[in-house]
Amino acid sequence: VDAATQTHLTQQREALLYRQRELNADLHAAELLRHTQADAGSDGAADQKDAAERNQNSDIDAAQEQRDVDEAQLVAAALHRLDAGTYGDCLDCGQAIALSRLRVQPAAPRCAACQAVHEQGRSATRR
Ligand SMILES: [Zn+2]
Repeated sequence: VDAATQTHLTQQREALLYRQRELNADLHAAELLRHTQADAGSDGAADQKDAAERNQNSDIDAAQEQRDVDEAQLVAAALHRLDAGTYGDCLDCGQAIALSRLRVQPAAPRCAACQAVHEQGRSATRR
């Protein structure tokens, strides 16, 4: 591993750890919000309209939270690959992922080509 790669890996680790802290904070906040909403719902004072609005809001929160959970898993997996020395290798084809791609998306598990195939496959099974 040359010095430039080492510097790159150190920067990627810092970016991943930073993102992990952000995601953990978001997820923690979402959890606190859920507890607050559960408490508010248990007093029985809210009418049905309020309850419906609350449900709608928590649906949006749930979708956002799920994205955060998914991304947190990608970030954790990327940190694991950094430790294992396989970071930057595409999960599917094993080729090195472009550095420019990793700078934008430090947690990217696949090269651009494989990610496109992966996402196509997912939307195809959804239909
Ligand atoms: Zn690939």
